[in-house]
Amino acid sequence: MNWRSDALLPVPSSATGRTRLLSANWKMNHNHLEAIATVERLYRVLRPEQFRYAELSIHPPFVDLRSLQLLFESDRMPFVLGAQNCHQEEGGAFTGEVSAPMLAKLGVGYVIVGHSERRRLYGESVELVAAKAAAVVRSGMTPIVCVGETLQERESDATAAVIVAQLEAVVASIPADSLSKLVVAYEPVWAIGSGQPASPEDAAKAASIIRETVVIRGGDRAANQVRVQYGGSVNAMNASAFMAAPGIDGLLVGTASLDPEGYAQLIKDA
Ligand code: PEP
Repeated sequence: MNWRSDALLPVPSSATGRTRLLSANWKMNHNHLEAIATVERLYRVLRPEQFRYAELSIHPPFVDLRSLQLLFESDRMPFVLGAQNCHQEEGGAFTGEVSAPMLAKLGVGYVIVGHSERRRLYGESVELVAAKAAAVVRSGMTPIVCVGETLQERESDATAAVIVAQLEAVVASIPADSLSKLVVAYEPVWAIGSGQPASPEDAAKAASIIRETVVIRGGDRAANQVRVQYGGSVNAMNASAFMAAPGIDGLLVGTASLDPEGYAQLIKDA
């Protein structure tokens, strides 16, 4: 049952026809009680126009998902539940892991895959990230695929090659007719949590590389419909410049999404 009020559904951008998506990646912060309190405070300070401006997905730790699912439903809050990761298999002897079908059953809409912290700290390869994205699609959810270069790669002029290599594997793993649903977050590794964002021009350039990569397998329609987020030290001061960058449809926000009043301000300013 769709419990969302129609008045609060996001309206696609009149310039692009795409629905904007602002995603809060809480990483390993907020236990389930803190998660409830944070969302209640965030909801209290948001206005209907913010829900019409963009889809607002919240990606808490796994242990908070059930609590937030119940809160969104009982209080008819039009946030979209998100996850930060999943396993590529549907089930089995994988101690400590969580599968895509389990997330779908909880009402999760978006799953982040390939975040640079997972690639770097947990050794997730390009192939593994592609397998996870495919698992998310098979379960009827939308992957938010993170791509982006390290500082060293940027300094050796390898940014475009890195984005293409990371994305090509994902694009090849997903049925062509699902490509238009994909969300790709351009997150330069050096910009994440550093307080040093990329420029809106960098983000726009990445968005066009991303669409050129999608067009090869998915054609113009998929490339036009794919949504591209920027992530990396986004705050209330720079959010609107990134949202105005050509080809950018949303933001993936880490640190600045943890404080509800601050995040509400960022959403209002975006
Ligand atoms: C992130 O982790 O996806 C992120 C963008 O973090 P931050 O906003 O803190 O740079």
